[in-house]
Amino acid sequence: MSDPMNVLAPEHRRLRIGDAWRDAAGGATFAVEDPATGKTIAEVADAGAVDGLAALDAASEAMAEWAATPPRKRSESLTATYRALIERSEEVARLITLEMGKPLAEARGEVAYGAEFFRWFAEEAVRVEGRYNTAPAGGYRILTVPKPVGPCVFVTPWNFPLAMGARKMAPALAAGCTTITKPAAQTPLTMLFLARIMEEAGVPPGVVNVVTTTRAGEVVAPLLADRRTRKLSFTGSTEVGRVLLRQAADNVLRTSMELGGNAALIVCADADLNVALDGAMVAKMRNIGESCIAANRIYVEEPVREEFTARFAERMGALSMGHGLDEGVDVGALIDEASVTKLDELVADAVDRGARVLVGGERPDGPGSFYPPTVLVDVPEDARMLQTEIFGPVAPILSFTSDDEVLAKANDTEHGLAGYVFTRDLQRAIRFAEGLETGMLGVNRGLISDPSAPFGGVKQSGIGKEGSHEGVLEYLDVTYAAIDLP
Ligand code: NAP
Repeated sequence: MSDPMNVLAPEHRRLRIGDAWRDAAGGATFAVEDPATGKTIAEVADAGAVDGLAALDAASEAMAEWAATPPRKRSESLTATYRALIERSEEVARLITLEMGKPLAEARGEVAYGAEFFRWFAEEAVRVEGRYNTAPAGGYRILTVPKPVGPCVFVTPWNFPLAMGARKMAPALAAGCTTITKPAAQTPLTMLFLARIMEEAGVPPGVVNVVTTTRAGEVVAPLLADRRTRKLSFTGSTEVGRVLLRQAADNVLRTSMELGGNAALIVCADADLNVALDGAMVAKMRNIGESCIAANRIYVEEPVREEFTARFAERMGALSMGHGLDEGVDVGALIDEASVTKLDELVADAVDRGARVLVGGERPDGPGSFYPPTVLVDVPEDARMLQTEIFGPVAPILSFTSDDEVLAKANDTEHGLAGYVFTRDLQRAIRFAEGLETGMLGVNRGLISDPSAPFGGVKQSGIGKEGSHEGVLEYLDVTYAAIDLP
């Protein structure tokens, strides 16, 4: 197999600003590593504040023309991006795996998912519409006019290097906004490749700008303080989200915040256990557990706890770990050494408080940031892993005896992103759907991400929705004209 880096030529490992691919103003670069080996795979431009502002110049200059571009034409460039991503799916997937560590099958899934946002929002671009009505007292008419909010700043995480950007760029472009994306420092290559694909797909210069940097705060803060910026969309931790919300407040920016989660997965005694096991494996292990909607706590109703636990542990223990590019690997490298240390500490903390490890629990020797699939039981309620995003292949199994009890426990967190419930009892499912304080719920399903659904959290998991028709509304200001007609 050829080197996955070949798809991104050296001239495209630089900042994408306006119609140019350019070095950072001071010429600085930084190294991107393969987390499975710790080896450097590429150097990319390391932007400073001045480069970020140059990207904002480009986005501002392109704004009026892009907003005035016929919706059908904007739609066509999104469709062209979708097609290019599908055609080049294998190249994109290999690049994702190389810089992020997930197994190739997961990376392929991410490309299919990420590409779908371009198709979905190509369809939405031509369906943006306003309303017309007579004022209740008569005498004039009200015409509502949706308008693109303006240049947008996007800050994205490393766990889905393509999809988290696609989820923002596609609706923004559909609505007629221009964009500046700052990808995570650990995974800048996929976003640069996407920008290149979009350039080839005919997206005009200035509409998509990408600024890679190791100095996120230095680059993003001046962008959020600039009056030309009109919107921030952030995906990442709740901690960083709070910082950016404060900065956005000074400039009264529109914001979409996709933040952290602490999903409870609830298996009721009446569930089809085969379905529950499949769902739990997906909800826990998709993306090696490095997902905001990953099952963080698994609650199993007492009568089926033993059977579920034994079968789940067996399946977790059978997964194979290795370099994501190798065939047959289920569990690739985690993003970095700090993630492995965090999992080690969370497991040690739970064990100190009385938990038992059924599977895994020990990091392997050798290079790369690997941690094995791990299952714990007898995890006490005060264990840190129950209140922290585990963000890795570690599954604490707990038990419950009543719906009220498990609902109270599931909701006892600042987060409210996703939840899962497995039951064959419709009324029970509805009670959980109404009682769980989450933005999303999987009912007898472990996979809930879908570009046609409104993805997003409640409580401190976020503000706003991505995907679905709601996704495009995030990039539109609804204005109106009162038209006199006595
Ligand atoms: P993170 O540490 O919050 O970083 C996210 C992004 O913010 C990165 O691009 C990072 O840049 C940047 N950043 C960090 N500090 C900043 C600052 N002071 N100013 C401006 N930008 C700053 O999160 P992560 O570790 O990359 O991603 C994991 C988190 O994302 C988890 O909490 C997960 O739940 C959440 N997530 C949420 C969703 C959702 O839809 N709700 C989806 C995926 C992930 P650097 O890379 O340079 O640090």
